Formats: sequence, structure tokens, C-alpha cells
Amino acid sequence: MASSENSKVALVTGASRGIGAAVARRLASDGFTVVVNYSGSAAAAEDLARVIEQAGGRALTAKADVSDAEAVRRMFDAAEGAFGGVDVLVNNAGIMMLSPLAEADDASFDRQIAVNLKGTFNTLREAARRLRGGGRIINLSTSIVGLKLETYGVYAATKAAVETLTAIMTKEMRGRNITVNAIAPGPVATDLFLNGKTEELVTRMAKMNPLERLGSPEDIASAVAFLAGPDGGWINGQTLRANGGAI
Ligand code: NDP
Repeated sequence: MASSENSKVALVTGASRGIGAAVARRLASDGFTVVVNYSGSAAAAEDLARVIEQAGGRALTAKADVSDAEAVRRMFDAAEGAFGGVDVLVNNAGIMMLSPLAEADDASFDRQIAVNLKGTFNTLREAARRLRGGGRIINLSTSIVGLKLETYGVYAATKAAVETLTAIMTKEMRGRNITVNAIAPGPVATDLFLNGKTEELVTRMAKMNPLERLGSPEDIASAVAFLAGPDGGWINGQTLRANGGAI
């Protein structure tokens, strides 16, 4: 049930599916008005917005490929037009293409840089210019930055860069009462993680942490909700690894 006491607006990128959809649902139930960004999955995004509104929340869908700076600008314009401003940015949109460096092709390198790094840059730049005072920014990294597993090189490099942007932007927000943090999940049961993996590999990776299970999108949404909500206000410039203890 949405709380009428919270009139803050949260923009969640890549919110049509997976972790982003769980984050949008959770923030809406915490009382945030939610902008549900997507790039391709329009029907899923519309369904999610409907579910949020049926539960008494407020949601707006916004199509934008985060790698397109102009589209990101228009998305912030739309959010401001509809709700007067943005208070929370969750940079969740991301893609993962795995291969050993010897076999990595230029197209997959360029696309991961475009979505994961340039996409995060595009939204951070708009947030730096426009986020309301008291705002929160939460960037999605990955625990692979710490685990450094084979085949994850390019993907992990894009997320290491996101962690660096997080730390530097924290300082650039001085005086505005805006916190900037990253969450670095371990394996989470979504298309991004499950696609292309055998059941045996999924089971093995699930047991990398001592809780011996995959994370759920809701596990990560809970961590985002903490950083976005009243209890997370003193956490700033950190990367929180949400992975059941894998590293
Ligand atoms: P999914 O593949 O399940 O969902 C990805 C979401 O991102 C979709 O909503 C998709 O929307 C959106 N998206 C993809 N490309 C773009 C784009 N160019 N512009 C806007 N939206 C885009 O991924 P997850 O939910 O698993 O991952 C979410 C984040 O969490 C990612 O940043 C990922 O790197 C990170 N992460 C995930 C882990 C995991 O094990 N799942 C572990 C660690 C980190 P659409 O379909 O509309 O294009």
C-alpha cells in the first residue's frame, strides 16, 4: 500500500523486467512516485505501471535507450513535466555479454560500454544538473568487480567504471544533500544471469555464497529501498555488495 506521506519521485532505469521491475514495485509500495524506464519491453513496462497504480501508487512509463543522451534528457523532461522534479535516480539498466578476451568482438565491447557506462554517465549527468535537494542516487554495479571471474572482463570493467563515477559524483554533490551509492549484487535470478547458463552452472554459482542460493530481485530491491529511504541517509559514497556473502 502506498504511503501518502512520501511525495518523492524515483526514476528507475531498466524497470520493465528483472531487478529494475522489483525496485520500481518496492519503491512504489514505499510511497515513491515511480518513473518506469524501458528500452524495448513496452508491454511489460505498461503492465508494471498498471499494477503499481492498482495498488494505489503513481507510475509513469518512459521509453529511452539510456545510451542515447538526447533520449535520457527527454525522459527527465517528461518526469519533471509530469511530477515537478526527480528525487531519486536508480541506474539499473544494464546488459552483460560474456566471453574470454581472446574471443570478445568489437560490437559486444562497444554495446556494453554504451549501455552500462555511457548510459550511466548520461543519467548521472542529468541528475547532477536536475536532482532536487535531499535526493538519492543508486547505481547498479556487480560483485564480479570483486570476484573477477573469467569471461566477465568487459562487463566487469564497465561496472568498475560505474563504481568510480559513484565515488567521484558523491564529492561533486557537496552542499546539495544528495547521496550517491552503488549496489553490487552477486548472481540474481533474472534473464541477464540465467540466459545461456546450464542448470549445473547456475547451481554451482548459487552456492558460491554461504547462504547457498541465488539472490532474488526483491533482495536487491530491499537494499535499494534502504539507500533511497529515510534509514539510508547517512550512507554516502559506498559500494554495498548484496550477494549473500560471496565476497
Ligand atoms: P535483465 O536483463 O533482467 O533486465 C534488464 C533491464 O534493463 C530490462 O528492463 C531492460 O529493458 C533494461 N535495459 C537494457 N538495455 C537498456 C537500455 N539500453 N536502455 C534502457 N533500458 C535498458 O537484467 P537484471 O535485472 O538482471 O540486471 C539489472 C542490473 O543489475 C544490471 O545493471 C546488471 O548489470 C546488474 N546486475 C545483475 C546481476 C544478476 O545476476 N542478474 C548481478 C549483478 C549486477 P528492455 O527489456 O525494455 O530493454
